[in-house]
Amino acid sequence: MHEMSLCESLIQVIEEQAKAQGFNKVKTVFLEIGTFAGIEIDALTFCFDVVCRETMADSATLEIIELPGTAWCFDCGKEVTISTRIDPCPECSGYSLQTKSGDEMRIKELEVV
Ligand SMILES: [Zn+2]
Repeated sequence: MHEMSLCESLIQVIEEQAKAQGFNKVKTVFLEIGTFAGIEIDALTFCFDVVCRETMADSATLEIIELPGTAWCFDCGKEVTISTRIDPCPECSGYSLQTKSGDEMRIKELEVV
């Protein structure tokens, strides 16, 4: 389950930020996750609770913001939103798409105490 290692790296980032910004307790973590990231939100939330125990994010809430996937269509020359990597262009039904975003995972904001 790669959600566990994702959460571990998440905690590392939070602890680095804590050092840099001088806070020592996190209340809410706002996390942006792209549609194509292949992350199980339920699994991630579960792992987050486990990994956060005894850390500065103990009992913090994980707020997930799902980001749509975007791609550039070479056929119609537009940036379009798609829900899977194998979707055709919603504008022209073409398949000449280059994925631009949708596989990221990043902390958008930390609510600290
Ligand atoms: Zn198109």
